[in-house]
Amino acid sequence: MRETDVVIVGGGPAGLAAAVRLWERGVRNILILEREHRLGGILRQCIHDGFGLTRFGETLSGPEYAQRFIDKVEEKKIPYVTDTTVIDITYEKPAAETEDMPESAGGSCGEGKADSRNRPHRIVTASSRSGLIQIRTRVVILTMGCRERTRGAISIPGSRPAGVFTAGVAQSYINLQNKMVGKEIVILGSGDIGMIMARRLTLEGTHVQAVFEVQPYASGLPRNVEQCLNDYGIPLYLSHTVTEIKGTDRLEAVVVSEVDDYMHPIPGTEREYPCDTLILSVGLIPENELSLAAGVVLDDRSRGAVVDEYHQTSVPGIFAAGNVLQVHDLVDFVSMEAEELADSAYQYLKDGSLPRCELEVVTDGNVTHTIPQRISGRNDFKISLRVRRPVKNCVIRLSQNGNIVAEKKMRKALPAEMIQMPVQAARLEDHGNLEVSVLW
Ligand SMILES: Cc1cc2nc3c(=O)[nH]c(=O)nc-3n(C[C@H](O)[C@H](O)[C@H](O)COP(=O)(O)OP(=O)(O)OC[C@H]3O[C@@H](n4cnc5c(N)ncnc54)[C@H](O)[C@@H]3O)c2cc1C
Repeated sequence: MRETDVVIVGGGPAGLAAAVRLWERGVRNILILEREHRLGGILRQCIHDGFGLTRFGETLSGPEYAQRFIDKVEEKKIPYVTDTTVIDITYEKPAAETEDMPESAGGSCGEGKADSRNRPHRIVTASSRSGLIQIRTRVVILTMGCRERTRGAISIPGSRPAGVFTAGVAQSYINLQNKMVGKEIVILGSGDIGMIMARRLTLEGTHVQAVFEVQPYASGLPRNVEQCLNDYGIPLYLSHTVTEIKGTDRLEAVVVSEVDDYMHPIPGTEREYPCDTLILSVGLIPENELSLAAGVVLDDRSRGAVVDEYHQTSVPGIFAAGNVLQVHDLVDFVSMEAEELADSAYQYLKDGSLPRCELEVVTDGNVTHTIPQRISGRNDFKISLRVRRPVKNCVIRLSQNGNIVAEKKMRKALPAEMIQMPVQAARLEDHGNLEVSVLW
C-alpha cells in the first residue's frame, strides 16, 4: 500500500492551491487524486474572463486561472493521478490503539499535543484505470467541489423530453465538446452560471427568450445581471417559475407562472413559452457523500463540513476547503481558503495536532451560515458568511459575551456575495460563543 503524508481529493482550484502551498512549506509526500482526465476542476469549462482579479490582480479566463496552478504543480513535480475517483475514506485502527487516544468523530476539533505519525492513519480507497488503489495517509484534504441541482431536485411537473439541461452541463457541451444544446432557450434560475450561459448562448447565435427567477431578487452577482443579461437585452423576470414542461421526444414549450410571497404559483398567471431548450441554474450543492462516509459532521445550512478556524473538520486530520465546504462566489477566495487550509495542515503534520476549538459561532436568522463554525478564541482568523436576503444600509456585527468584537457597515448586502471579515484575537475571549448578526 502506498504511504503519503497528504492525500488531496480533487484537483480543482482548491486542491491545486492547497498542494502548491504545502509544497512551498516543505511537505513533499503529497498525492492529488482527480476523477477527471485533467486537472483544473470546473474552471476548465468557464472560458469567459473575470477570474483572478483578487488573487493575481488581472482578469483571466477560467482555464488560464487554473493553468497558473497546474503549471506550479508540474514545475514542482507534485504527484497527481487523474481518471481516479476516491470512493471511500476510512481510518486505520492502529495496532496499539488505547483508550487515551480516542478517535473524535464530532464535536471538538483537535486534541492536545501528540505526534501525528502516531495518530490513526486514513486509508483512502480510489477507483483508477488500473483498478482499486489504496493509500495510507496522515492527512486528507477534501476539495471535491460542488454539483448542480437538477430538475428532480426542484420537482418541475410535466413530461420528460430531451432538451432540459443544467447550466453547467450545457456549458460543458458548448465550451468543451463544441456541441450546441438548442436554438430557442428559456433559463430558469438567475444563478451566476445561468446568467453566464445566457450570454454565451446569445453569442453562439441562439435566442435566449428570458431568465425566470423564483425569488424576488436575482440570485447571482449584480455584475452578471448587468454584463450577461442587460447588455444583451435578455429580460429577467423575478418571482416567476416554470410550472410545466411540455413535449414528447424534444422539449416543445414551458409554462411559466408568477409566484406569491411564499413562492407558490399564482393561478391565472400561466404563460406558455415555446422553446426547445430549458437551462436550469437553480443552485449548487457541495459534494459531500465522501465526507459523510468518512464520519465528517456536516452543517445543514452550508451543506459542507463543520470546520474550525484551521479548516479542520470534526475528524482530526481531515480538512476541507473550496466549494465542497461552502459555495463561493469567486474562485480567488477558493484558492485563498485552500492556502490557509494548507498552512494548518502543515502545522498539524509538524505538531501532531491542532489546538482545540471549543467556542461555537452562532448566527441570527438573517445569516445563512458562517465558516468557520468553531473557533479557539485565541487566534486571528477570517470569517466568511452570507446574508439570507438582500438588505440595505446594514451592519454585520460579531459579538462575544456582550462585547462587540468586529463590525462591518454595508450599503448593500446580497445573498449572492460572500462577506468576509477579519477577526482579531486581541478582541476575543477564550470563553463564550461568537454571535453573528445582521442589523439594519
Ligand atoms: C457548472 C459550474 C460552473 C461554474 N462557473 C463559474 C464561473 O463562471 N465563474 C466563477 O467564478 N465560478 C464558477 N463556478 C464556481 C467554481 O466551481 C468555483 O469557483 C471553483 O471552481 C471551485 O473550486 P473547487 O476546487 O472547490 O471545485 P471544483 O472546481 O469543482 O473542483 C473539484 C474537483 O474535484 C474532483 N472530484 C470530485 N469528487 C471527486 C472524487 N470523489 N475523487 C476524485 N476527484 C473528485 C472534480 O472532478 C473536480 O475536478 C462554477 C461552478 C460550477 C459547478
